[in-house]
Amino acid sequence: MDDIENRVGSLLRPEVLALSAYPVQDSTGLIKLDAMENPYRWPEEMTAEWLEKLRRVGVNRYPDPAADSLRSALRTANAVSDDAGLMLGNGSDELIQIILMALAGDATVLAPHPTFVMYRQIALSLGLRFVGVDLNEEDFSLDMSAMRTAIADHRPQVVFLAYPNNPTGNAFAAEDVLEILRIAPGLVVVDEAYAPFADGTCMGRLQDFPNLLVMRTLSKLGLAGLRLGFLVGHPAWISQLDKLRLPYNINVLTQLTAEFALSKQAVFDAQIRQIRRDREILAGRLRPLPVKLFPSQANFLSFRLLEKSADEVFGKLKESGVLIKNLSPSGGALRECLRVTVGTPEENQRFMDVLVTVLRP
Ligand code: PMP
Repeated sequence: MDDIENRVGSLLRPEVLALSAYPVQDSTGLIKLDAMENPYRWPEEMTAEWLEKLRRVGVNRYPDPAADSLRSALRTANAVSDDAGLMLGNGSDELIQIILMALAGDATVLAPHPTFVMYRQIALSLGLRFVGVDLNEEDFSLDMSAMRTAIADHRPQVVFLAYPNNPTGNAFAAEDVLEILRIAPGLVVVDEAYAPFADGTCMGRLQDFPNLLVMRTLSKLGLAGLRLGFLVGHPAWISQLDKLRLPYNINVLTQLTAEFALSKQAVFDAQIRQIRRDREILAGRLRPLPVKLFPSQANFLSFRLLEKSADEVFGKLKESGVLIKNLSPSGGALRECLRVTVGTPEENQRFMDVLVTVLRP
C-alpha cells in the first residue's frame, strides 16, 4: 500500500496531489435544489418526437467532428454574428480547461472571489498561478479599485468574469465589465452560464473587444445532462483553441438532442419565463425572514442567515428532504450563506415551509 502511494506521489505533479475533487452531493431521494438545474422535463409529444429521431442515429459511427449543423443552430439561437468563431465543449468546464491549457509559459489567471470554483481548480491543476480578488462584501459587486491594482500588479493572461456570478447570483455593473475589458492585458472570458435568466450580455461587444471571449452553456437552460458548452470570440483565438479540443468531444446523442431542443425554443422560453417568475416569488417570500437576500439574475438565490447557523439550517432542510447548497464552509464573504436553486412552485413551497419552520425562534 505504502509502495503504491509513494509511486503515485512521486509520479504525479504536486499541484494534482494537492487538489480536492469537485464536490457533488448525493441527492438520492431528495428535492434537488442544489445545482442550478431546470426542474422541468419535456412535454410528452416532444419526447416522443425526439425518441423517433434517436432511433435513426447510428452509434457505430463517430460523430461529426466539427458538429457544423449544431454550431449553426447555436449561432442562430444565440445571435452570434457570422464573423465570430464558435467552438464546442463537453460542458463549459471543458472550455475553461482548453483556454487554460493553451496559455504560454508561467501564466497567471485572475478572477473575482467568490466565484465559480472551476477557474481556480483548473488553473491550479495545470500549475498556473491563480489570483482571486475579493468582491465588495456588502453586495458582491466588483471592487474596482482592487481589480485595477491586481490587474496592474499581476498582468494576468486571462481574467474570468462569471456574468451573472455564481454563487452570489448578481450580475456585475456593465461599466465595470467594460473597464476590465479595456485595462486587461490579456483575454477576458465572460462566462454567461446564466444568460437565459439575466438581462445583460456581452455577446454584442465582441466587435469592440478582440480580447473578449464569451462562454455559454446549455446546462442551465435545461440540458445539463447533455454536457454542452460553447465559446465565442475572434476567429484568431478560436482557431488556435480548437486545436486543443479532443477529436469528437461532442457525442452523437448530444449533437442530435441539442439541435432538436434548439428547434423547440418556445418550450424552453416558457420554462425560463416560469423560472424567472418563480425566482421573484421566492425572493419575495425570503425577504421578510431574518436573512440578507442578495439580488439575483440567475436561476438561484443566495442569502445569509442573520440569526441561525447555515450549517444547522442546511442540515435541517436536508433531514426534511430538501437539498440546497451550503456556501458557509467556504467562509469569508460566504459565511452563514446558503444557495437555493429555483425549482417548481411545489418544490419552492416545500423549501419555504421547512425554512420558515427552522427559522422560527
Ligand atoms: N460557469 C458557471 C458560472 C457555472 O456556475 C457553471 C456550473 N455550475 C459552469 C460554468 C459549468 O457549466 P457546464 O455545465 O457547462 O460545465
